[in-house]
Amino acid sequence: MKKMIALLLCALLILSLIPASALAAENEILDGRWLCADIQGNVTENTPAALKDDFGLYVNKEWILQAEIPDGETSAGSMEDVIRTLKDRQIALLKDESLTGHDAELVHKLYALVSDWDYRNAQGVEPAMPIISTIRSIDSLEALTAYLYDRNNLLRYYPLVMAVSTDFINPDIYITQIGTPGLMLSDSAEYKERTQAGELRYALREQLGTYMLQRLGLSEDETARVIENAFAFDTLLAEHIKPQATHYEADYFTSLLNYYSPEELEALAGGFPILDMLQAYGLKVGQSFMVTEPDYIAALPEIYTEENVPLMRDWMTLKAAISMTDSLDQETSKQAEAISNAIMGVSGETSEDDDALGSVMGLLPVPMDNLYIQAYCTAQQRQDILDIIEDTVAFYRQMLESVDWLGDETRAKAIEKLDNLRIFAVYPDELGDWSGLDFAGPDEGGSLLAASAAVQEFLIALLSDSIDTTVDKDEWDQLRMQTAQVNAQYNPQNNSINIYAGILSGNVYNEEMSYEQKLGAIGTVIGHEISHGFDTNGAQFDKDGAISNWWTEEDYAAFQARAAKLAAWYDGFIPFESANYSGRQVQTEAIADMAGMKSILAIAAQKEDFDYDAFFRQYATLWRMQGSYPYLVTFVAKDTHPMRYLRINATLAQFDEFVDFYGITEGDGMYNAPEARVAVW
Ligand SMILES: [Zn+2]
Repeated sequence: MKKMIALLLCALLILSLIPASALAAENEILDGRWLCADIQGNVTENTPAALKDDFGLYVNKEWILQAEIPDGETSAGSMEDVIRTLKDRQIALLKDESLTGHDAELVHKLYALVSDWDYRNAQGVEPAMPIISTIRSIDSLEALTAYLYDRNNLLRYYPLVMAVSTDFINPDIYITQIGTPGLMLSDSAEYKERTQAGELRYALREQLGTYMLQRLGLSEDETARVIENAFAFDTLLAEHIKPQATHYEADYFTSLLNYYSPEELEALAGGFPILDMLQAYGLKVGQSFMVTEPDYIAALPEIYTEENVPLMRDWMTLKAAISMTDSLDQETSKQAEAISNAIMGVSGETSEDDDALGSVMGLLPVPMDNLYIQAYCTAQQRQDILDIIEDTVAFYRQMLESVDWLGDETRAKAIEKLDNLRIFAVYPDELGDWSGLDFAGPDEGGSLLAASAAVQEFLIALLSDSIDTTVDKDEWDQLRMQTAQVNAQYNPQNNSINIYAGILSGNVYNEEMSYEQKLGAIGTVIGHEISHGFDTNGAQFDKDGAISNWWTEEDYAAFQARAAKLAAWYDGFIPFESANYSGRQVQTEAIADMAGMKSILAIAAQKEDFDYDAFFRQYATLWRMQGSYPYLVTFVAKDTHPMRYLRINATLAQFDEFVDFYGITEGDGMYNAPEARVAVW
């Protein structure tokens, strides 16, 4: 599950830099159990790979030895292959002139703007100049406020995030959420003590910023000062923002439930003109606001001051400059890519088609989704997925009925939640409607920046219109749940599982797979997602998606104790020397992996002559990967999923079906004594 609150936060591209000498990974088993096979170069011909000691490596070694990370990418693997297939199909749509209708028209017009390098190179960095010089001319709080209020300014950065989402307490209504701004180093803890991942992020901003600012005409001195001031402002913000570690605490979601009327919100924000900012951004003032971190909003009057204007102006300058790396001429885009590649240990460049697709997807997700559904989704696919979901749900019912540590009261609520699970499989019944959007193409004097501003305005207007209106929870919300993505998701806010079309290819699902292979791949993914309804996060949302604790105190304590045992076990893994692996960070995803495996094994047990070998191999194949070391450093610091070699080995080691089938016994690396097992369900 992507936490829904992520909708509030700026997506930060995680890119980075450390000296090449520090990039070498250690070919060592640091935790005494399994080698971290995910790091490129860690596995060689001579690395032992016995089935009973390291099943993941046993299945995947041959692939690992010949795997190559594609040009411009940070990793390779089964999921990465599925992403490649999706991109190739979408690129074909960009180029398919035979497609008609408004969606195709928008897509082709934007693609023309993106891919017409003669046109873009002729413009050079000119489209950026007025933006930067307007920001640079801000010399007072009054001028800063006037800049933020003027919607003609294409790039406006507010010291808070304003978003629209379903209400956490009453999920029948859309409400405005007020959140904290995304930080350049991602986690406020990085501003107190910088980790290796923080160093990587810092280096990326610093280097990309230096390049872009000088390209936009700033002197060397001025550039250095802008970067220093920008980070000083970010540090001011970070002082009032909770560290990422608090997101994994048991009371995280309830900590977000702070409701304010418009008047109360104004009072909370002190002298900071929060309602005017909101309307300047384009959102209407609704009846009520959910404020994720009130302490932060209360601190805005001491952040947004006359004295801090130079810092905030430079913070906006740096953000604007870095955001434009892909919207200007070819030289800018190539240089920026080279900088981030050097930092992230990436070799080669992504293709022009991939770059163009990235820009189009970023701006036109729903039109692209519609074209993808029409071209690639079939009723057969959808039926296959619905069948597996039906079998898996039946297992969960049995499991919830029989699990011995759950009391009757909680059990009844859990079953009620399962019975109300909404299922969104592959494609919506009705396509999203973006007929209200238009922008100028290259023939009409359009530009990428102008098109992007038009999309932004269109989206904000859509969101604004939805404030205080009723949510249709049975309707697929394409704006928030795109199907042309490689993902599957449990959404606690409407108690739904969402299996997207983009994930249905290659080693995850294809129509030619055997039944066992389908279960080993997409089956375990579906089982994984359903379990999120009942994990430490899902336990906090009820059958309708409202935040409400439906667990008795005793049962929740039993659940937490089991989750803590799992987290403690994961704390013991050291994938590589500098990795500070946090069991708490990965616990919900690890619980889901194990529950997903268990649910599919229960389905398997009912089938005659089930081919367990094919099933377990497919599961190990699903999670194979090779990544660059810097990429994995940033992954481990932030991602809530365990590393892939652990998703394979740590999950399988919990199950009798696996251990018994291969005759694994005490002393084998894949053996985990029954009393040491940590599966929560
Ligand atoms: Zn998950």
